[in-house]
Amino acid sequence: MKKRIFTTLAAAFFAAAALIYLYFTGEGEGAGIPCMFHQITGFYCSGCGSSRALRSILHLDFYRALRYNAIFTLFLPFLAVYFCALFYSYIRLGRDKISEKISMKFVWALIVIAVLYGILRNIPAFGFLAPTVI
Ligand SMILES: [Zn+2]
Repeated sequence: MKKRIFTTLAAAFFAAAALIYLYFTGEGEGAGIPCMFHQITGFYCSGCGSSRALRSILHLDFYRALRYNAIFTLFLPFLAVYFCALFYSYIRLGRDKISEKISMKFVWALIVIAVLYGILRNIPAFGFLAPTVI
């Protein structure tokens, strides 16, 4: 149990360090991970703008976060709860008991939504979904 607590605390420490680093980087300083898909194709994927959205959330600028990546911003609270429950399950039981309870239909629905979002944000009529801020 001590090893699991140490592992979880180490993961939490690195996540907190990454968030602090992201918080103190300025707009457009390239703190995020460059998107290979965007660099190669010129199209936006579902994840484009996620690190900028996370930085905006850390600065409590939710409008800007939604403009950078709406799906990431809307899913982030659920992801945070999922990972907290996952860590709790890992510490208590030593295994992932949370993912077993999530339906594969639900997971596939999320994947379909993410793929559709990635397609839509490249269509000019849905340009407001592109990771830009006006
Ligand atoms: Zn991308």
